Amino acid sequence: MIEKHLTLLEIITYGNPILTRRAAEIKDIDQKTADLARNMIYTMHRAPGIGLAAPQVKESIRLITVDLSVGEDEKELIILANPEILSVEGEETLEEGCLSVPNIAEKVTRPFRVQVRGWTLDGKEARFDAEGLLARVFCHEVDHLNGKLFIDHLSPLKKNLAKKKLKKAN
Ligand code: ZN
Repeated sequence: MIEKHLTLLEIITYGNPILTRRAAEIKDIDQKTADLARNMIYTMHRAPGIGLAAPQVKESIRLITVDLSVGEDEKELIILANPEILSVEGEETLEEGCLSVPNIAEKVTRPFRVQVRGWTLDGKEARFDAEGLLARVFCHEVDHLNGKLFIDHLSPLKKNLAKKKLKKAN
């Protein structure tokens, strides 16, 4: 089989209205969804990043890719359509960043453990019990699908400082 051509997608940044929109539910996981997922993985690995949500590449649909190994271990790759956080437990505060919010890193408090449900590209239900960094990435990516960025979790003062830094950089 010939490998399909992979496309490096443009990652949009803070200020683009797509990032503040609630992304649409995926009704049919079709070839188009699969192609987008493959290009998202390629783009995420190249960035490099450990998570990407479809709205970050201008597709306002509920699709995320996650890979804590950044391409080193195929078993770590997660592709989920319509992911949902079913339950959360505990909390942890760690510095966080985002490919759509370049050059900003701030401490964000997130649940330490989450239960996530979504659908694989084969249309099968998938569940994850994640903790630590993986739990954080799931929360961060699902936030993207709801039009929320990590800086929206900051205090108004810190958020304003981050916004100023972003304006200066862009
Ligand atoms: Zn992000």
